[in-house]
Amino acid sequence: MLNMKIDKFTNKMCIWVLATKLKIYVCTTKYCSLSLIMNIDNSTQKHLTQVIRQAPNREWMEQYLDLIEEVIHIGRFENDDPRFVLSINSAKKFSVTINGRYVLSAFRKGRPLVGFTLPYGFEGLSELISRSEMPEFRSRQWKPHAGEVAEKCPYFLAFEGFPERLLTIKQKIAWKRAVLDEMERCDKSPYKRFHKPFLYELVIDLGFRKLSLDEIFYDDYSDEVNSKEIFQEGSVRQVLTKYYERNSKARQKCIDRYGTSCSVCDFNFGKSFGELGEGFIHVHHLRPIFEIAEEYEVDPIKDLRPVCPNCHAMIHRSSSPLSIEELKSRLIRFKAQTDT
Ligand SMILES: [Zn+2]
Ligand SMILES: [Zn+2]
Repeated sequence: MLNMKIDKFTNKMCIWVLATKLKIYVCTTKYCSLSLIMNIDNSTQKHLTQVIRQAPNREWMEQYLDLIEEVIHIGRFENDDPRFVLSINSAKKFSVTINGRYVLSAFRKGRPLVGFTLPYGFEGLSELISRSEMPEFRSRQWKPHAGEVAEKCPYFLAFEGFPERLLTIKQKIAWKRAVLDEMERCDKSPYKRFHKPFLYELVIDLGFRKLSLDEIFYDDYSDEVNSKEIFQEGSVRQVLTKYYERNSKARQKCIDRYGTSCSVCDFNFGKSFGELGEGFIHVHHLRPIFEIAEEYEVDPIKDLRPVCPNCHAMIHRSSSPLSIEELKSRLIRFKAQTDT
């Protein structure tokens, strides 16, 4: 069992390495290698990329995939379980349905909302209803399926924020109960044809997940204070956009304090390229963006540092970012080695 898993992953690694090499010669779009990793066609990968890029950032997406993984574990669903459907649709929703009813769903009209099905009558339901983000839903209660009583149908409630933080432990237990209820309701979903097996792989195979998200969020580290264009695609997520807009000032304060030379390697674009490079530099958040709450105010002196794009890419190369000092000491160490 374990061997099979490793084999599968190694295969993907090979394809990925191949893809990376091929990219130099044949890739015309940024989706190219993703299709090779996932073995899906061009339009599917483009769709998948668009869906996933609605997430405010990679950490958000990881948390959402973790929630899907929990559903899979609760139900012990295999990829071909007739009750279980994992899908992305034309409205760019990314959803889990069990026996024809959503139990978890992400994105509404480009907003990073997460919807949960919750059982009727559990303690704390009214608090959740009042916090729910979907006034456009005429009724938040599901319509009854065969054998259900209308008044006792579960609710579907959506919230905005990091997926992991939307429900308390108690509320999460209630959600899991709703998942079990949906599972037991019948033994076959009428929508199984919409199930996408590659999404299942994306959730449960962590190596595969990492490769895919690396590809989709390849430029997530680009300038963290000034990267509005990443977030403007499809009017994504007002909170973060506002946050970035507010902080062009923070960026300036950081540069006023630390200058426009890289904090790691000391490279200065103005010195190297003259007028063309004058003032160009990335700004790096020392605290990972996913730790930052909505109300968080950037302290430009404490939280931000100017870095060149090369060093910035190296800082974010591994799953948890390196500190400026760590990268700097590596640079010095390896430079000393190659110089001798
Ligand atoms: Zn640098
Ligand atoms: Zn950064």
